[in-house]
Amino acid sequence: MPKTALRDIKTIIWDLDNTLYPYTEEQIEHWHEATVRAAIDLGAPITLEAGLHQARQSFAEHNYSSKIFVDTYGLCPRKMHAGLHPYSNEKILPVCMLTQESFEALPNVRHVVLTHAHRNWAERVLRHLGLRDFFEDDLIMGLEDYGYEEKHASNRGILQSLDQTGCNPEHALFAEDTLRNLERAKATGIQTAYVHHGVTGDNDNRPPFVDHVFLNAADVMMTLSKQKQV
Ligand SMILES: [Mg+2]
Repeated sequence: MPKTALRDIKTIIWDLDNTLYPYTEEQIEHWHEATVRAAIDLGAPITLEAGLHQARQSFAEHNYSSKIFVDTYGLCPRKMHAGLHPYSNEKILPVCMLTQESFEALPNVRHVVLTHAHRNWAERVLRHLGLRDFFEDDLIMGLEDYGYEEKHASNRGILQSLDQTGCNPEHALFAEDTLRNLERAKATGIQTAYVHHGVTGDNDNRPPFVDHVFLNAADVMMTLSKQKQV
């Protein structure tokens, strides 16, 4: 099947964290602390200090700081999901004016956020980043909005995004920093975009399920703008 050109993209399905903005050390550490506080609230018999050590270990091994608390203390993953975001501060995230300008420059593309985080976190982050107005209310989807079916394990979120935007898969671009999520989504027929923030930029050795490689969200938008002018 011939690949649709980027200029034909009508909808972008964005991951949120480390895609629409880059992770920083400070934020990851802050996130660990929010996770430990939520675990303590839910009854985990740990100190903040001991919990931070566990959270760092869990993040390094599973990309999820809360997994260790669910596994070790039998905490409810959905309660952890809801409980850590009130402790998370979006104000420490880096704001990029170029990203805002690149969204303004391409008004005819619809945007979806499909995140493993809570919807409330997604809305706060988008507002902080100056991007909230580019997303319709029902196109901001937290994990709880698509049945807690994580993106590497299920295409429910992608299919729901396509359904809610009325977009054909070949006219949709899925932008993510997590390769296993892109690999799973590829089966739906959408175009996949790996956003790496300088961690790796090797366009020649990308996995077969990655159609495009971008530095960051602004790079996605500016590349689309250029393609649409051709
Ligand atoms: Mg991410």
